[in-house]
Amino acid sequence: MDNTVQIKDKRFAVSIPEADILREVERVAEEINRDLAGKNPLFLSVLNGSFMFTSDLMKRITIPCEVSFVKLASYQGIATTGKVKEVIGINEDLTGRTVVIVEDIVDTGLTMQRLLESLGTRRPKEIHIATLLLKPDKLQVDLNIEYVAMRIPNDFIVGYGLDYDGLGRNFKDIYTVINEE
Ligand code: 5GP
Repeated sequence: MDNTVQIKDKRFAVSIPEADILREVERVAEEINRDLAGKNPLFLSVLNGSFMFTSDLMKRITIPCEVSFVKLASYQGIATTGKVKEVIGINEDLTGRTVVIVEDIVDTGLTMQRLLESLGTRRPKEIHIATLLLKPDKLQVDLNIEYVAMRIPNDFIVGYGLDYDGLGRNFKDIYTVINEE
């Protein structure tokens, strides 16, 4: 069976099949159910990449909770700072809340750091991080990431919500690029 796929100039092969992903999502859900019981956590899913992870995770969260969605809008800041990411779409009052950020992937960690800074100004009681994927070797900042479904090498991946140039988000498995120059 051919388990490779071509997206534009890149070829990808299945690296994490759906069943393996779901087993780890289940484990993370159980950890959250145990740790955050009684706290009515607000899950903040970071679009677009985390939509599939959020869906499968939330189906396995059995404690009372809420879920909402945010986006990071990149805009060109002043020349010295370059691209700045702004969090948009938060309609909830975070004051005193237990917040769980739901991300697709933490790479350098700079995006997550920016998110934490932004959400921190809204006076939540606590912020936890749940990520589907972590590239530990690329992490540049000190982050307390409590819930990690899977740790992966530095290679570029697509599928299960993650895209290459807008494509591949619909794949149920995770694919890794092959023959990368
Ligand atoms: P960071 O700020 O942690 O370096 O980057 C996080 C963002 O980079 C993710 O939200 C995702 O959009 C993108 N990213 C990092 N690695 C990958 C990857 O292997 N595949 C895809 N599709 N996106 C990635």
